Amino acid sequence: MPKAYEAGKVEQKWYKFWLDKGYFKPEIDPEKKPFVIIMPPPNVTGELHTGHALTATLEDIMIRWHRMMGEPTLWLPGVDHAGIATQVVVEKMLAGEGVDRHKLGREKTQARIKQWAESRRQMIARQHQRLGASCDWSRERYTLDEGPSRAVRTAFVRLYEKGLIYRGERIINWCPRCATALSDLETDHKDIQGNLYYVRYPLEGSKEFITVATTRPETILGDTAVAVNPGDKRFKAMVGKNAILPAVKRAVPIIADEAVDPEFGTGAVKITPAHDPVDFEVAQRNDLPLVNILNPDVTMNENAGPYAGLDRFQCRQAILDDMEKDGLLVKIEPYGHSVGHCMRCQTIIEPIASQQWFINTRPLAKPAIEVVTGGRINIIPERFTKVYLNWMENIRDWCISRQLWWGHRIPVWYCRDCGEVTVAVDEPKACSKCNSANIEQDPDVLDTWFSSALWPHSTMGWPDDTGDLGYFYPTTVMETGYDILFFWVARMIMMGLEDTGDIPFSTVYLHGLLRDEKGEKMSKVRGNVVDPLDTIDKYGTDALRFALTNDISPGNDIKLTPSRLEAGRNFANKLWNATRFVVRSIEAGGSELKIQQEQLTVEDRWILSRLNGTIANVTRLMDNFQFGEAQRQLHDFLWGEFCDWYIEFAKIRLGAKDASPLPVLVYTLETSLRLLHPFMPFVTEELWQNLKKHLPAGWHKTDSIMIAAYPEADEKAVDPPAERVMEAVIEIVHAIRNARAEHRVESGRWIEAQVCAGELTKAVSAYSPAIEMLARARPLSFFKRREEAPPVENVLALVLKSSEVIIPLESMVDPAAERKRLEREIAQTGAEVARLETRLKDKAFLTKAPEAVVAKERDNLNMRKDKLERLKQSLDRLG
Ligand SMILES: [Zn+2]
Ligand SMILES: [Zn+2]
Repeated sequence: MPKAYEAGKVEQKWYKFWLDKGYFKPEIDPEKKPFVIIMPPPNVTGELHTGHALTATLEDIMIRWHRMMGEPTLWLPGVDHAGIATQVVVEKMLAGEGVDRHKLGREKTQARIKQWAESRRQMIARQHQRLGASCDWSRERYTLDEGPSRAVRTAFVRLYEKGLIYRGERIINWCPRCATALSDLETDHKDIQGNLYYVRYPLEGSKEFITVATTRPETILGDTAVAVNPGDKRFKAMVGKNAILPAVKRAVPIIADEAVDPEFGTGAVKITPAHDPVDFEVAQRNDLPLVNILNPDVTMNENAGPYAGLDRFQCRQAILDDMEKDGLLVKIEPYGHSVGHCMRCQTIIEPIASQQWFINTRPLAKPAIEVVTGGRINIIPERFTKVYLNWMENIRDWCISRQLWWGHRIPVWYCRDCGEVTVAVDEPKACSKCNSANIEQDPDVLDTWFSSALWPHSTMGWPDDTGDLGYFYPTTVMETGYDILFFWVARMIMMGLEDTGDIPFSTVYLHGLLRDEKGEKMSKVRGNVVDPLDTIDKYGTDALRFALTNDISPGNDIKLTPSRLEAGRNFANKLWNATRFVVRSIEAGGSELKIQQEQLTVEDRWILSRLNGTIANVTRLMDNFQFGEAQRQLHDFLWGEFCDWYIEFAKIRLGAKDASPLPVLVYTLETSLRLLHPFMPFVTEELWQNLKKHLPAGWHKTDSIMIAAYPEADEKAVDPPAERVMEAVIEIVHAIRNARAEHRVESGRWIEAQVCAGELTKAVSAYSPAIEMLARARPLSFFKRREEAPPVENVLALVLKSSEVIIPLESMVDPAAERKRLEREIAQTGAEVARLETRLKDKAFLTKAPEAVVAKERDNLNMRKDKLERLKQSLDRLG
């Protein structure tokens, strides 16, 4: 074996080996229940970031673990076309070439996006392979593949026929830059410091006014009423009269509606149904007309009268100027409020009433609530159950049409002759009513999350009744970030139930977000993004995986820091060195490799007990999705107990030509490598294969650690008496080593120690040679109780959990050298005291220096005097 672990040399070799052997493909066994994870499909917009690496690592841990337990295990990879996100990226690229997509045309733009997405798709697959993802590439799916696309059209048609998809005029979030509608979830709300403008509307045929407050004065042009609360006495007389809009001079009724908050502004509000969701509902209740004042590029349209053609913000200024002139602008107050921005391009969105396709989500939400409250779907961590239910209970209709070119085109055709709407899975040749061929497909595409919502069943072949769908669906775990609980998880549950009648998965595991050392969210804008491939090149894949899952717990954010990456790399090296030692010991020979129970020493029984305790804990923790804690316990066992102690004890025996630890060394290492494999697949495979070469044939029948059996805890191996003795021995060595370090004892120096270990004395004293060696303590004497030991003056007494260690101070320090050191320090400290005393008597200093400086120097002097006193006492004690 080479001297050091070189991750770069072995990782690609093993990945290819696994792939060639077909280990990633599950074998369908009707007798067994499969374990299935559908990978959250990364967007084809770019390369993988550490968030993807975290997803891949957690899922690979679960997948490798279940595969080793002998379950038919499917991990299905895929990528998402990511509608708007991808189109925005490619539009920016086109703009860089001076090309406008509208001039290029739909087909050519689509071709450009497709070409770019294809290159990204291959890159993403390669990156997953570098991460060690053991997913079944033969089943890889892409949302725009024919299968998933037909599932999208089928789901649409079925919902339409059930009356759950409808086309209607509603307020949507309009991004003028992307020129599309957005769902509420795609809109970021940001607090903005704006103004609240108080404007007077003259009452028709009267000298009176009614004053309203608004943050968007340009929308006055689209008002169709003024509303007050029905209980508001101030406006009682005005209800039923008309107000005249400033600028456009249109008359609008003053109405009473419960939705009006009498505390806001003046208590009277303007109603702009075409540009505000609340006003839209007021208008529906009160039968008010809609007046849309905006073009798709958010310039003012013909309804804006004299302002037609102006940009929305130019119009705002123009109308304010005009109202000012007319004396209708009462006052302007600074006003902080929340404004929607496009999640993709950060342009301020404009609420606009428009014809869009919607899903009536309430009927779908009901069963999606029941499967969670009824416990058929478990959400981990549990606290997100409430968040999920709250969202589902208040769900709003989902706007699914997007005015984009990249995505699944809506399967709806309009007849130009009779106006009939034909909705079909396959492209119709003629109108379903009048049979005219003069039909035209809806130009819009579906929200990218529509296809994502079908992902667990569309990837398995739905709507066809495929073997995969029958065997692997419902899937087992949906593992993803908590930030897409509503976007994705909730919608998969609704659509899975609707399309298949069954839940899409039984467990939802939500991981947290990645943060940097300072706890900041990683983002390109902050410039703190860690590239997983750079990290792999520098530290190795296993180190990255180790760092990502270090300390992780469901739903909590994760810090990825260089020190954790280093810890991962060091851990791989530690295992490498341990395995090299074991392999060399096997080569030296001298013992059978099979464990003979009757020949086991206490330390053998101890490490086997600890190994089985660790297996039991790790299995229980993995069952509870506590991967961070499972990894920590594995690390602490392997590093802290096996490498640092058991191997050190074994070296003493092997050094004395006693090969008896060999079977336990081999057994513990081999079992631990299997236990660790799901977490650090590459280094464990490399080490396992190296070890295997030196083991007798038939030790392990499999060709790879990844298909070897996962260790099962043997309760019989648990041995509390052996653990008690070895804990005491380790504690004693630890304590003596710490004492040596604190007193700066040279490493070569032997020190004397008395150990009093009560009832464990006999068992512990059997380890006298090991303690002597590991702590460099000699002579070492053992007593049951301290009173039995010969009294010694000037001792350091270390009181431990199950023993007491007495070290004579003079055994740690050489009196002559110590006297010299103390004298030197006394002289030095004395000189400092003298210097400070002189200074504090200097009148010039005392008058000129600030008080704080003088006080500090006084403190300094007192501290030094105190130190001098203690140094003198120490010198006296030396005698
Ligand atoms: Zn946008
Ligand atoms: Zn027709």
